[in-house]
Amino acid sequence: MSSPSKDPRPFKRAILKLSGEALREPGSTDNISPEIVDRIALEIKEAVATGLELGIVVGGGNFWRGASASARGMDRATADYVGMLATVMNALALEGALEHHGVSCRVQSAIEMKNVAEPFIRRKAERQLEDGKVVIFAAGTGSPFFSTDTTSALRASEMGVDVILKATQVDGVYNADPRKDPNAVRYETVTFQECLTKRLSVMDATAFSLCMDNHIPIIIFDLGPAGNLSHALRGLPIGTLVHGE
Ligand code: UDP
Repeated sequence: MSSPSKDPRPFKRAILKLSGEALREPGSTDNISPEIVDRIALEIKEAVATGLELGIVVGGGNFWRGASASARGMDRATADYVGMLATVMNALALEGALEHHGVSCRVQSAIEMKNVAEPFIRRKAERQLEDGKVVIFAAGTGSPFFSTDTTSALRASEMGVDVILKATQVDGVYNADPRKDPNAVRYETVTFQECLTKRLSVMDATAFSLCMDNHIPIIIFDLGPAGNLSHALRGLPIGTLVHGE
């Protein structure tokens, strides 16, 4: 295992990647749980109060995934546009909860939707981050055939962040699937190169190579337990850190 010398913590600016499923109560038919969104907003509020500059990329998988719809016969590009619009609903729900708790927040959408969100303008987003506003990047990259993991890698590269915090349903990267193998061991730190040679799954290939090429470390952690999000946002040890050599 690698030395944690490339650990970005403590960090000043981060992108938080939330999957759409993170906003849904497990087992519920409601796509968005207002209670979960509220809890996420409160943990974000705590962390940004310490001076963290935070951008958020939210997925749309709680509503729709382009690849699944395309496997069932829909044109892939059309299905992906539907998926990108789904991310906007999640972004608005999150923005509402953050504003409700007094956190200044802006949604910037990669697909123009001026009545509900600002269009994505990189320099404006940078200024908003510098001003302490939370910026939610909605509508993915604005292009089909990409994922919101790739969006997080792209926005992280553009915004010059120190780290991507990827909130998932597992508590890090393992040497085997922990749901199938009881002897699976979690890495505290692992390099990009080790992930490639050991075929460890961290993000999709496009997202992963953007992070590796642009030297953006990724922290994978479990969003489930209360307090984990604020812990990760405050740069305390959690999950698995994926970093360069
Ligand atoms: N999507 C896209 N381009 C992007 C980002 C997302 O076409 O740049 C579409 C794609 O169909 C994807 C859906 O939006 O399945 C929802 O995003 P994702 O699956 O990444 O959401 P998550 O799994 O994180 O909830």
